[in-house]
Amino acid sequence: TVRVRGLKKAFGANQVLRGVDLEVRQGEVVVIMGPSGSGKTTLIRSLNFLETPDDGHVEICGIGVACAGGTGDRATRQAIQHIRRRTAMVFQSFNLFPHMTALQNVIEGLLAKGVARDAAIQTGMRLLDRVGLSEKAAQYPGKLSGGQKQRVAIARALAMAPEVIFFDEPTSALDPELRDDVLHVMRELAAEGMTMLVVTHETRFARDAADRIVFMEGGHILANCPPEEFFGDQASERCRQFLGRLG
Ligand code: ATP
Repeated sequence: TVRVRGLKKAFGANQVLRGVDLEVRQGEVVVIMGPSGSGKTTLIRSLNFLETPDDGHVEICGIGVACAGGTGDRATRQAIQHIRRRTAMVFQSFNLFPHMTALQNVIEGLLAKGVARDAAIQTGMRLLDRVGLSEKAAQYPGKLSGGQKQRVAIARALAMAPEVIFFDEPTSALDPELRDDVLHVMRELAAEGMTMLVVTHETRFARDAADRIVFMEGGHILANCPPEEFFGDQASERCRQFLGRLG
């Protein structure tokens, strides 16, 4: 459902993506790992066109966008809108609206789509329950822990019934003891067959929830293999060095 070919992106003179090829099939969980600055966040943001790639081709849910020449023309803008409707993004910094309750945050997108209020509330409550937060529906984000905020953000992503969810370091801003609840929800989604592309440094999650690990460095994909291989003895010297440093 996600197919990326030759993706390139520079910020000024800094060539961050140097021709990335990547595929994520339906129901697959792909974890992207790599050192700081290797381009992981830029890659995942490019798939939702939060960054505009300079070159390459992105196809998501059968909708293709050729990136060379910008994304300004009408057909391309439409294709990007379609892609955004079928995907969701979970950010490191949660990005909840502070003036809305947990429930309002979850259903805001549904209401914007024209879903009736009662139906939206029903869906919102079901999703908050699914992430273990039904009793926090009326709380504002300021009263929630980081882990709870991130679970609200996941419920909000799920509300749009996405075909793919992109996670950008979803637990990096959390204290270690708050990470497990978020990872638990992500594991459940993975087990239910959600297609997920996850940038993370969580080796345990990568090892037992991912179907494949993509290792990035310097804007290239250096390895793309099952976790057994990535974490095993036969991994390349470079991957082992990286993992050794993560501890
Ligand atoms: P980390 O693990 O530290 O988040 P990353 O692998 O996700 O790193 P990116 O965030 O994609 O890496 O950043 C790759 C490079 O692109 C870095 O050198 C960064 O400074 C640069 N960069 C990212 N976003 C921008 C931007 N909006 N403007 C200018 N440079 C940027």
